[in-house]
Amino acid sequence: MSESADVVIIGGGIVGSSIAWHLTEGGCNNVLVIERETQQGKGSTGKSMGGVRAQFATEVNIRMSLYSIPFFRTFDERMDYPSGYRGQGYLFVASSERHIEYLRANFERQVALGLKTVQLLAADDVIRMVPQLRPDDIVGASFCSTDGFVDPYSVMNGFMLRASDRGARLWRGVEVIGIDLDASGVAGVRTTNGDVTTRTVVNAAGAWAAHIGKLAAVDLPVEPLRRMLVPTEPFNKISQKSPMVIDMATGFHFRPEGLGLLMAWNDPNETPGYKTNFDPAFIEKILTRAVSRVPCLEEVEVNPRRAWAGLYEMTPDHHCIIGLAPAVGGFYLANGFSGHGVMHSPATGRITADLILKGKSDIVDTNAIGIERFAQGRLLEESVVL
Ligand SMILES: Cc1cc2nc3c(=O)[nH]c(=O)nc-3n(C[C@H](O)[C@H](O)[C@H](O)COP(=O)(O)OP(=O)(O)OC[C@H]3O[C@@H](n4cnc5c(N)ncnc54)[C@H](O)[C@@H]3O)c2cc1C
Repeated sequence: MSESADVVIIGGGIVGSSIAWHLTEGGCNNVLVIERETQQGKGSTGKSMGGVRAQFATEVNIRMSLYSIPFFRTFDERMDYPSGYRGQGYLFVASSERHIEYLRANFERQVALGLKTVQLLAADDVIRMVPQLRPDDIVGASFCSTDGFVDPYSVMNGFMLRASDRGARLWRGVEVIGIDLDASGVAGVRTTNGDVTTRTVVNAAGAWAAHIGKLAAVDLPVEPLRRMLVPTEPFNKISQKSPMVIDMATGFHFRPEGLGLLMAWNDPNETPGYKTNFDPAFIEKILTRAVSRVPCLEEVEVNPRRAWAGLYEMTPDHHCIIGLAPAVGGFYLANGFSGHGVMHSPATGRITADLILKGKSDIVDTNAIGIERFAQGRLLEESVVL
């Protein structure tokens, strides 16, 4: 006899796990999560920098954070599992009037949507907050105290464990290799562990989402893009209480991690593809930007063997795709987070569960994040992509 489930979720990363929990929260417990790796978190979730922020430019991203960050703040109590949330803030450091105008416009939008913890800072306040910054060209900043970091692996485990307590199942080491369709849409999935009958499938396959889309004849504009992170050796010249600091002049950013720092920079020459090797040449590129804004980083030590790379899952407008695929009944998408899938995992779980169980969600305008926007030319442009 073949297996069956009310909902099958393909991909057991942070997004699939959050969707599973939110479905059980809505009363749907016959959920099966299928993960091809023998352990969860081997996709992008385990590679993430763990940053969470509400300082975005678009209403959709701000609203998703307004659901997600309070969720992280109360995660430990609610899930009886640690999220690792540290509300140390994100500091966007401006070094031109153009940056300031841009931060002010975003600030006004964020406040209008209900964010209470964001403020614009004068140059002196910025230096007081992070005295190690090179001050000569700094003209101000935007700071939000409830932005910060989480432990993505722990959040994923917490979601999956609590979903399992309510009956959700997780298959590990099992790959989805086909999706069966009939006249009403999805009829089941084929896996390396046999067939599963279901009328509802969620694509939560991260950077591999387009392959899963193809199995259901859905063309998904989601491309993998390598992203590299460089941890430093222990470094005591910058406080462990420091916020995530973003130098808007170059895009270089860093946050405290362990006894050192975790550094990131978006290399504009990176090209799409499934590249997950760390390129040692990146170290010089990132350190050049790092030292330019934070001169004391000249003394920092870096061990290239501790650096790593993972995949962003990019869409043409840097926004997620959530909702029903229009041509295939029962095939839901939760894809294309463009580097924001950890921070938006709570909202994504809630929106996807709402759409499956109630056909609508009040967290965001779901019409804006549906896949139809690409064919209809309704692209959303998020310019605060790190
Ligand atoms: C270096 C780096 C830094 C990042 N920093 C941040 C950050 O600071 N903040 C933030 O919010 N986001 C960040 N991100 C992005 C974030 O990690 C992702 O958006 C998020 O993890 C996506 O979660 P997911 O569950 O959709 O994908 P994944 O974690 O990749 O999970 C998808 C799963 O699907 C499985 N799968 C694929 N195909 C199949 C199949 N056929 N059958 C069964 N299983 C399958 C994969 O094995 C994988 O485990 C970062 C990403 C990287 C790489």
